[in-house]
Amino acid sequence: MQPQPSRRRISPRRLAALASVSALTLALCTSAGSGRLSPGTAVPGAGPSALSRTSAHGPCLIGSAREVQMSEGIPTGPGYTRSTGTVRALTLMIDFSDAPGAGDALDRYREFFPQTREWFSTSSYGRLDYRPEIPVPDWLRMPKSFRAYGIERGAPFDPGYRELVRDIVAEADPEVDFQEYDLLNVLVTPNAGPAALDTVLSVTFAGNAEAPKADGGPVSNASFVYSRQDDGSGSYDRTGYRVLPHENGHVFGLPDLYTAEGGGAVGHWDIMSEDWGANNDFLAWHKWKLGWLDASQVGCAASRGTREYLLTPLARTGGPKLVFIPVDAHSGYALELRTRAGNDEAVCRPGILVYRVDADVDTGMGPITVHDATRDSGGCTRAPNVHAELSDATFTPGQTFVDRAEGIRVAVVAAEKEKYQVRVTRSSAAP
Ligand SMILES: [Zn+2]
Repeated sequence: MQPQPSRRRISPRRLAALASVSALTLALCTSAGSGRLSPGTAVPGAGPSALSRTSAHGPCLIGSAREVQMSEGIPTGPGYTRSTGTVRALTLMIDFSDAPGAGDALDRYREFFPQTREWFSTSSYGRLDYRPEIPVPDWLRMPKSFRAYGIERGAPFDPGYRELVRDIVAEADPEVDFQEYDLLNVLVTPNAGPAALDTVLSVTFAGNAEAPKADGGPVSNASFVYSRQDDGSGSYDRTGYRVLPHENGHVFGLPDLYTAEGGGAVGHWDIMSEDWGANNDFLAWHKWKLGWLDASQVGCAASRGTREYLLTPLARTGGPKLVFIPVDAHSGYALELRTRAGNDEAVCRPGILVYRVDADVDTGMGPITVHDATRDSGGCTRAPNVHAELSDATFTPGQTFVDRAEGIRVAVVAAEKEKYQVRVTRSSAAP
């Protein structure tokens, strides 16, 4: 069984140049297997959270019918880090003889914390208590030069990363009991490798039971952050940390939503789609998947006929957040109310977001597609690194989304400040 291969983001402005590289790596990923734990393999701290559901949610528990590395299916498969309760994130800062850390290693740490901890607290409504821990508060010097590991964009786990993880474990082991932690963050000195604007090296190996062992168990869920995601717009201090919640999204089992063509499938509506620029949140689908929504906050529109649902802003704690309309056993439409609040700071047209979720589509291949209520409008924002066209994708009162082929109709019938009413009509029940 091969380990989980790489996850990367693409700087939008470098996309064209990288498209061919992406295609190549994705092809490589496709043949790499699921990387899931075999039954009975015990990994301390691992295992996704229990999904909150009732029997009425049955038709909405879509799954993949074919082998995919990381699926939008629900519930999340085994082997990933638990995403509720207290999660301890071992955070190590590493450097190399040919890229020595400049200044205090804790300055590197402070590029990501406490912001990443706060981001998860806000997004999870306080259900994920993310605790970064730094038992080694200095640069951990690797025994080889950066060049010697052969780390480049899309680099597979073997042999370079395997070697790097092995060396990290060996160097940190005297001071660290790896089994006390739920995930590993490796913050690489920013002078190692290319600038993120040229090539994003940051990567996560998730659910990787084949990783080198440390203190008796594999280092299954590890995020590596390189360089600085600084677009030169002057917002780095505020937004540069966002690569880490994106990478950690993978250790919790979430796939990449950008594709080889960039962020055009989901835009700025989820941090797994765009982690440059203004702050954003997770989609409600991801929040349910991560165990941050109760069954009572999720409506499952599976039966024939017409039903009305209330939705409250996704960023606000409490109230109904998600309506899912299953189309078949592996896909369906999700509805949620997005407003400018909480982690969502770039929302310029509050309203109901409608998107298709397909558990059979793999990470990076477009497992989620947002439907644009105002196609070719050019969007309602010019914020740097926010996908403009989809920024006004939301449906507002009086607008209707229709999928004729599936006999599904969604009308936004009323809106108050903190409450939208949607009417879902299906011509046939979910199979
Ligand atoms: Zn990613």
